[in-house]
Amino acid sequence: MAQARTFCIAGAGIAGLTLALALAKQANSKTKTKIILLERNDEITEFGAGLQLGPNAHRALDSLGLEEELHKVSFEPEGVDIFSYKQKKPIVTLKLGATAREKFGVPYSVIHRADLVHTLYNKVKKSKLIDVYFGVLDFKITNANKNPIVNFKCKDGNEIEINTHAFIGADGVCSVTRTGVLDGPLSKYSGYVAWRTLIDIEKLKNVIDLNNTSLMWGTGFHAVAYPLPHRNKVNIAIFTRETMSVGFGIRQTPSLPNSAKSDPRLSKILELADGWKHWPLAAVSTSTWHKGSVGLVGDAAHAMLPFQAQGAAMGIEDAVILAPLLMNEESPATAFEKYENKRQARVNKVIKTSATNGKIFHMSAPLSKARNAVVKMQGEMNHYSRLGWIYDYDPLV
Ligand SMILES: Cc1cc2nc3c(=O)[nH]c(=O)nc-3n(C[C@H](O)[C@H](O)[C@H](O)COP(=O)(O)OP(=O)(O)OC[C@H]3O[C@@H](n4cnc5c(N)ncnc54)[C@H](O)[C@@H]3O)c2cc1C
Repeated sequence: MAQARTFCIAGAGIAGLTLALALAKQANSKTKTKIILLERNDEITEFGAGLQLGPNAHRALDSLGLEEELHKVSFEPEGVDIFSYKQKKPIVTLKLGATAREKFGVPYSVIHRADLVHTLYNKVKKSKLIDVYFGVLDFKITNANKNPIVNFKCKDGNEIEINTHAFIGADGVCSVTRTGVLDGPLSKYSGYVAWRTLIDIEKLKNVIDLNNTSLMWGTGFHAVAYPLPHRNKVNIAIFTRETMSVGFGIRQTPSLPNSAKSDPRLSKILELADGWKHWPLAAVSTSTWHKGSVGLVGDAAHAMLPFQAQGAAMGIEDAVILAPLLMNEESPATAFEKYENKRQARVNKVIKTSATNGKIFHMSAPLSKARNAVVKMQGEMNHYSRLGWIYDYDPLV
């Protein structure tokens, strides 16, 4: 008789949806598999803005058969123009586009977060093995060690109990699975904030090169801009430090250091924007990614500073690595142990690289002058040797 296994995942974000698809892909006729996703929002959300998807993320997503659909909604910048404060010309343009494809066999692209999430969700909807519950108000877990029992309430008043083989928290930076079930730490404010906006492509055509990503460095800030042609917008994020962050919100004008406001390129962007989202950046630091049959993926386990543009990619890698382990190992506890062993060193290295980038990008003179000279000397292919360990990685090997 076929065994039956139910996997329950909290959070239908990037990591949760990817994990659901990766588990469905692993299902076979010997084991009757059911995957249940619990999402607290009433529908798939449009929060967030642009994301860069490195070749490592693409490799993992392609393994789930998403290559074609992603290609339709993403864009491959030809390079990254790196500008230092007030400079007219880039210090260097790092090569992406065809060079990245040639080197890695997969693209380096940019995409709107909502387009990635909808691509994943459209595939989830087609799977008979996956059920999604929206409007989940609360969930409780008993028997975390073995065969967790999950009780949850929905907005429509339904109260449901399910017996599971494993429970996975993909519930983001403020994960209740991490704090409530694994007794893990709360996320901590990093001291950095992002100011995010989208501007019509047309308005920026004389300000930045719309075939490229632009990375702008200055004292106490950096900014990233790249086009999202499928939405006819350019994604802009400006990152600065704030000692006391006042929470998420919409503002007409971002509060920025004078250095940022006096950079001609950035001041033009500020002039053209219609409002900004203030986004305090929180991070999670814990090595406890599981207890018995309950584990974590994505930001729930390791939310990080976005300065290497790899947070979502790490959640995507987590998902495609954890799914076969959960399906094939004797117990979820063993699967989670192997997953932690495989993931933690890499994720921690990416976390450190992101934090170091913050310091380098925000340098003031004279250090910034030395930095610029080194970056210029290293040239347009330097990122491939420096960051090859991130992009070359194949989570399926
Ligand atoms: C400014 C900025 C720029 C970034 N740029 C990049 C980039 O270029 N490249 C990149 O790879 N990454 C980037 N990131 C990081 C990336 O956005 C995150 O790492 C990624 O979105 C995390 O995905 P997740 O699925 O783990 O969590 P989330 O996207 O937070 O999803 C969690 C889901 O769980 C749901 N949820 C939460 N609590 C509950 C609950 N109790 N019950 C049920 N559901 C629940 C939420 O509603 C949500 O749908 C960036 C982040 C920021 C802030």
